[in-house]
Parts: sequence; C-alpha cells; structure tokens
Amino acid sequence: MTVMAKFSTLTHRALELYRKVFPIPCLLCGLATERDPLCQACIADLAYLGPACPRCALPLQTGQICGQCLRAPPPQHLSFSLFRYQGGIRRCITGFKFHQQLAFAHLFANLMSEQLQHREKLPDYLIPVPLHAMRLRRRGFNQSLEVARQLGKLLNIDCRPDLLRRIKATRAQSDLKFRQRKANLRGAFQCSSTKLPEHIALLDDVMTSGHTSAEAAKTLLNQGAKCVEVWTIARAIRHY
Ligand SMILES: [Zn+2]
Ligand SMILES: [Zn+2]
Repeated sequence: MTVMAKFSTLTHRALELYRKVFPIPCLLCGLATERDPLCQACIADLAYLGPACPRCALPLQTGQICGQCLRAPPPQHLSFSLFRYQGGIRRCITGFKFHQQLAFAHLFANLMSEQLQHREKLPDYLIPVPLHAMRLRRRGFNQSLEVARQLGKLLNIDCRPDLLRRIKATRAQSDLKFRQRKANLRGAFQCSSTKLPEHIALLDDVMTSGHTSAEAAKTLLNQGAKCVEVWTIARAIRHY
C-alpha cells in the first residue's frame, strides 16, 4: 500500500469515527447521516442513468447503440455512467469537486462498484483522467483520482494514475463553443507507457460533450491498448 493510500484509509476511518460522534446533515435534505454524505433516502432518490447506449452512455430505453455512435463512433469501446448530471447529483459533484467533500469519493465508488462488479470481464487498469498540473495545484486534488483509487480497491483493478499526464493547459470546455472543444483538447494527454495492457478503463467525473474522455481514450489506443472504456460518475444530457 502506498503512503497516499494508507493516508486515505486513515482519513476515512477518522472520518467514520467523527461521524458516529457528530452526525452531519445530509447534503441534500439536512437529515442526520452517519456514514455517507447523503442519507439513504436521498441516495435511493438520485437520478440513476438507467438503460443507455453502451458506446457513449446516452440514455436510451432500448439500451442499443445510438444513431450518433452508429454514424461516428467515439474512440472508446464502452461508456458507463452512474447518474444523469442533474438535480441533486450536480450539487453533490460540485461539493465533491470544489469544496473537497471527500466522503463522496467513497459513496460514488461504492455505487459504481455495485453496478460493475457482476461484469464478466473487468479492465486490467483503471486510469483517472488527469488534471493539468496548474489546475491540480489550484484545486488541491483530482476528484477522478480519488474515486478511481477507491473503485480500484473494490473491484480489484490496478489504479494507475502514473500512466497518463495532461500536458496541455486547456481552457475550461464550458467556456468554449462546441466546435472549438475538440481542437482545444487535441494533444492534451501523454501516455508514459509503451506496454499497456489490452483492456483499460478511464475514470472521469462528468461526461459532457465527451471530447475529454475521447481524447484520453485515443491517447491510450495509440499507445497499444486494444479496448478502452470510459467510466464516469455522471452523464450530462444536452442537445447541441
Ligand atoms: Zn437526505
Ligand atoms: Zn451512443
């Protein structure tokens, strides 16, 4: 176990103990909660994604490949997302990302693993989508790495944040028009390994246009991975 992982386990234990003595209010409804940052009722009430296109995670009742992916498939072979990015889940992810409410990393990883653990084949590596060093310094932590670390433990997959770097300080995708977004990300990532295993899952917080994860997936495929999946906490559903 690395020093960071040990530290993370210790912090988690301390947090659990603290919660027992001083229960804190559920972020969404205010009821006291012992373990998670949300109460059980709010967890059950979140906007789970449901049936979706297996390639891009766009909600689709039939669960088949969507028209967009048939016309122009993304580089990743599969996409999995836990929630729709709306309502309460937006508040949770904002709290997690910008207010460092780290208990969410455990909650999201637990919920993701419940849905993924029955898969016949799981990836060999789990790689969190990296932040550029400048953004990482500003924010203090990478939310995707926190979830990937927990999820890797639960699913028994190696979490390898060391393999992918963000080498371009891209502008926030939300500041750009749809057409500019792809160009903004071109060449944004660099993979430090030439011996990647065949099957890798990338982990990101939110999939919006999908350009970030697509660029990261492309980088891994160019370096020899055969099958790349994109796992996200939430999928933003927008019409461009
Ligand atoms: Zn609640
Ligand atoms: Zn699709």
